[in-house]
Amino acid sequence: MRKHNFSAGPAALPDAVLRQAQEEFRDWNNTGASVMEHSHRGEHFLQVATEAENDLRNLLDISDDYAVLFMHGGATAQFAAIPLNLLGTAKTANYLESGHWSRRAIKEAEIYCQPNIVAQLNNNKQGINLPPIAQWRIDDKAAYFHCVYNETIDGLELESFPDVNMPLLVDCSSNILSRPMPVERFSVIYAGAQKNIGPAGLAVVIIRRDLLDRAHPLTPSILNYGTVATAKSMHNTPPTFAWYLSGLVFKWLLAEGGLLAMQEKNKRNAASLYETIDSVDLYSNNLAKSVRSKMNIPFLLADERLNKPFLEQADENGLLGLKGHRSVGGMRASIYNAVPIESVQVLVAFMRTFAKEHG
Ligand code: PMP
Repeated sequence: MRKHNFSAGPAALPDAVLRQAQEEFRDWNNTGASVMEHSHRGEHFLQVATEAENDLRNLLDISDDYAVLFMHGGATAQFAAIPLNLLGTAKTANYLESGHWSRRAIKEAEIYCQPNIVAQLNNNKQGINLPPIAQWRIDDKAAYFHCVYNETIDGLELESFPDVNMPLLVDCSSNILSRPMPVERFSVIYAGAQKNIGPAGLAVVIIRRDLLDRAHPLTPSILNYGTVATAKSMHNTPPTFAWYLSGLVFKWLLAEGGLLAMQEKNKRNAASLYETIDSVDLYSNNLAKSVRSKMNIPFLLADERLNKPFLEQADENGLLGLKGHRSVGGMRASIYNAVPIESVQVLVAFMRTFAKEHG
């Protein structure tokens, strides 16, 4: 029996995609072999690769000014690839510190430069928040501006972006494809796959072509955006199965009505969860309402001793992956594209019943 999966990543994948992959697992496209058993340079896989890129371009309306790269090493490899490719001769780069994953990006950047932290979280009457953009201390001489669109652990999603006179880079690992986004606003958009795209290990990088030739000479070729783009993401053997499965997810998204349809569903799911958290005394979410994530919803129980029974009973009710990250505690419901409305309805009903019994 498949459970209602609220895992943060690796996370729920569309059931229809898993079924299709299962059906063609051993004999793909009547080729007598699994997709995993084909050469990445053979005509069969090349078609998968091209279709996946085209479907992603369609979904996000990506123009030809951008290259789309399928890279190894998840989003963490990008934390290094970015300074290696884009720092140039600058001594610093701007980093917004909005939570756990921005701190990880900053720590990696410290190997290559002295990051300029433009702003950090504060906690006031409205809850955890960022200062207004006008107060951010942006260094105009820095090589680029980096931020994390959606902090998967902290549950904070940026409302808007600053106008900067340098490349604007965004880690979209946990909210890419959750709704339409204005690609042209950014110079680089990147995401680890294991939330809204496909299996872990793969990262998708959408990068303005004029930034492809700036890598530091010591950049490992596998992280060199220009090298990877010229080789059409096949400088070495790419993670073919992850690429194929991501392609199936893109086709599923298109068939479901694209990103506007996802936006509608995701909005409904987030609204019903936040409504439950805000209206039931046992639960709380401590982020300012304007920055609450629509993908990762952390919440605390009023009494920590209830965490264990909550998780045990959730499991008995077929609800998976609700334990919060160890750094923030409590619970977290990740409601990516593949989480249907019915799963959130079951979760909300469970939360209300649990609160009545333990409130
Ligand atoms: N950035 C964000 C926003 C993330 O959520 C994650 C993973 N949860 C990462 C970066 C790191 O991704 P990976 O583990 O694929 O390297």
